[in-house]
Amino acid sequence: KLRLTKIKLAGFKSFVEPTAIPVNNDLVGIVGPNGCGKSNIIDAVRWVLGESKASALRGESMQDVIFGGTAQRKPVGRASVELVFDNSQGKAIGAWSGYSEIAIKRIIQREGNSNYYINNIHVRRRDVADLFHGTGIGGRGYAIIEQGMISRIIEAKPQELKYFLEEAAGISKYRERRHETELR
Ligand code: ATP
Ligand code: MG
Repeated sequence: KLRLTKIKLAGFKSFVEPTAIPVNNDLVGIVGPNGCGKSNIIDAVRWVLGESKASALRGESMQDVIFGGTAQRKPVGRASVELVFDNSQGKAIGAWSGYSEIAIKRIIQREGNSNYYINNIHVRRRDVADLFHGTGIGGRGYAIIEQGMISRIIEAKPQELKYFLEEAAGISKYRERRHETELR
């Protein structure tokens, strides 16, 4: 399997200084006082995987993920998040299977859109999504379970439940491709 080994942040929310968080275990706990940045780390993981709704990241606009300054420190002009995966078993799909490490990066400038990179190669958001299709990771995935998520699944309407099941079964990519074909 692709295994997450490191989360790197710079200029992202409260993580203004470049920070590398090692993920050395299958189970990792993040502890600390209120407001120290625990949830910001989860936001960062969501964001780099392609989240496009600012509200899902607890902001009003996408620019809100960029460090906005404090009484002591000026705002910065860009935010970046990188996830490093161990791919020594070569499980990544297609063109990426030969790399022993896979690094997914998203960078946003205060003026302008964000860009995605896989191993420092500029890619589309879609290419990042393709890497994780069928793994539960990504936009409508179930791999990141937050407060309220369990009840959301229990109370889901049939259509929403279908999305969870399609993702778990690894067939969501076909639904998306069919949708794209129908639009042509
Ligand atoms: P709790 O235990 O209360 O859930 P937490 O550790 O999850 O706390 P976070 O929500 O991750 O805390 O972090 C909140 C902090 O991040 C706040 O101090 C907030 O000001 C800061 N913060 C969020 N976005 C930005 C930003 N764009 N620029 C600077 N600071 C930010
Ligand atoms: Mg929190």
